[in-house]
Amino acid sequence: MIKAATIADVKKYVRECKKSGKSIGLVPTMGFLHEGHGSLIKRARKENDIVIVSDFVNPTQFGPNEDLEAYPRDFDADCRLCESLGADLIFHPTPEEMYGKSNYSKVHVDKLTAGLCGAVRPVHFDGVCSVVTKLFNISEADRAYFGQKDAQQLAVVSRMVADLNYNIEIIGCPIIREEDGLAKSSRNTYLNEEQRLAAPVLHRALAKAEEQARAGEKDAKKLCAQITEEIEKEPLAKIDYVEAVDWEELQHTDVIEGKTLFAIAVYIGKVRLIDNFITE
Ligand code: AMP
Repeated sequence: MIKAATIADVKKYVRECKKSGKSIGLVPTMGFLHEGHGSLIKRARKENDIVIVSDFVNPTQFGPNEDLEAYPRDFDADCRLCESLGADLIFHPTPEEMYGKSNYSKVHVDKLTAGLCGAVRPVHFDGVCSVVTKLFNISEADRAYFGQKDAQQLAVVSRMVADLNYNIEIIGCPIIREEDGLAKSSRNTYLNEEQRLAAPVLHRALAKAEEQARAGEKDAKKLCAQITEEIEKEPLAKIDYVEAVDWEELQHTDVIEGKTLFAIAVYIGKVRLIDNFITE
């Protein structure tokens, strides 16, 4: 597996791959990889000749009071996991390499970024869309893999690709969970023992609602109220939002009509966790 730190090195490798007609799958990550990321890499491995994993804690998607400095990092462990899953190249640039001395351009997706996590993280999705655009251009990937764990991100990037005619296919992948249901996340390492025990409340609340939706319940408002009530039983949990939105435009809905995203963000102590499910 190649370890590349510069854009030029990745581009050189990509040129060679393209010359021999190889397809490229890209898995964008911020590192500190776990089985959630692993599932994306495995899927990319199956569907492409070449797999590129980017491992970059992107500063532009963090707000001023967020956890950029504290964000966990372990590049050696990331390399071991990527290598064991058959990735061909891991791209691990510095912020200076990615953004140079100055950068005046960004990509903004309207409407879909206004609510859910966008409401409390105003710069987040501009940062995501801009860095993902750069990674798409650098890697010239045919496909890029994103987890449903970050459902709004998946919807926003898919819309960006459709609106701006990028030549790349966006593949959404299911949420990988711990045995007790907690969605795997690099941020779970911030939880202390007591908080870790409280954290599965997110999935527990969502799973009950999902079961009812599957059984034919169409009242999204009622399901959100039940999710809220379940989470409020956990004293360490503080709700940021519990929302039902249509999967196309991510706009609030009180009824399930077509694909509906139930998304939640909950603080366990100071740690903000997200989770969701999407109805059929
Ligand atoms: P991150 O490193 O947190 O930016 O995540 C990189 C990619 O991995 C994103 O597309 C995430 O949605 C995805 N991902 C993170 N956690 C999980 C998980 N538990 N299951 C599936 N995909 C995940």
